[in-house]
Amino acid sequence: MSDCLFCKIAAGEIPSKRVYEDEVCVAFYDIDPQAPTHFLVIPRQHIASVAEVGEDNAALAGHMLAVIAKVAKDLGLDSYRVVSNCGEQAGQSVHHLHFHVLSGRDMTWPPG
Ligand code: AMP
Ligand code: ZN
Repeated sequence: MSDCLFCKIAAGEIPSKRVYEDEVCVAFYDIDPQAPTHFLVIPRQHIASVAEVGEDNAALAGHMLAVIAKVAKDLGLDSYRVVSNCGEQAGQSVHHLHFHVLSGRDMTWPPG
C-alpha cells in the first residue's frame, strides 16, 4: 500500500532499527518505546489489522508469533507482553498489522 508507513518501513524506504527480518515479516524497535524493550513485528504484506486475519493468512500470523518468541529469546527476555491494537477505540494508530512486544518493567492488568 503506497501511503502506508509500515509498508514503507518493510520495504526499507523509511529507516528503522531492525532486530529481525525474513521473507515474511520484519521486527524493529518502536520509535516511542513504552518499556525498556519495545519492538514491533509486522508482515511485509499489507494487512490492516487482526480483523483481517482469516484462514487464508493464518499461517502468516502464526509465523509472526513464532518470530516474537524467537526474537524475545534471542534478546534474553524472560517476561514480556504481546499486544495488537485493533481499531481506533483500542488505540490503533497505524493501520498495518503489528504486534507490540514490551518488556523490562512491571506491567498492570487490565491495560488502560
Ligand atoms: P499502534 O498505535 O498500536 O497502531 O502502534 C503504532 C506504533 O508505531 C506506535 O507505538 C508508534 O510509536 C510506532 N511508530 C510510529 N512510527 C514509527 C516509526 N517510524 N518507527 C518505529 N515505530 C514507529
Ligand atoms: Zn501497509
